[in-house]
Amino acid sequence: MVNGYNINKTRRMRRDRLIREHEHDTYKLRAKPQEPTVCNECGAVYHKGRWQWLAAPAGAHRALCPACHRIHDRYPGGYLTLGGPFLQQHRDEILHLARNVEAREKAEHPLRRIMTLDAQDDDVMITTTDMQMARAIGDAVHHAYHGELDYQYTDEANILRVSWRR
Ligand SMILES: [Zn+2]
Repeated sequence: MVNGYNINKTRRMRRDRLIREHEHDTYKLRAKPQEPTVCNECGAVYHKGRWQWLAAPAGAHRALCPACHRIHDRYPGGYLTLGGPFLQQHRDEILHLARNVEAREKAEHPLRRIMTLDAQDDDVMITTTDMQMARAIGDAVHHAYHGELDYQYTDEANILRVSWRR
């Protein structure tokens, strides 16, 4: 049980740290838009200090939201690799789960999105606009199917790489 406790503690500390780092997302700091601003690409509205799914107010400023900016730059904030024999056998349902998690997260947090979803040999590589999205999908897949989940955070680049295998 000592091992179990240590693992949980480490994981919790990592999560807190990731949330703090998330606040320092360079794409968010770079563009502090005037209010209200509507994203030219996806229609999200910057209102009360955050991007939300709202009807565009008349006379709103126009800009790219940080998520569309990253998509435009092809610069993901999160990477998720899924792999292993179990993935091969249950690929469709696992990718369906990933899409469901995206829909749920994106509905609440407009800046969380899947950017690309590609097959690479036997693995599936998903890139996301922010690290929380990569983590949310990784956590959901791990919760549903167990297997091995690993997080790697790179400070300099502010990028999270999540990998899941089973
Ligand atoms: Zn946008």
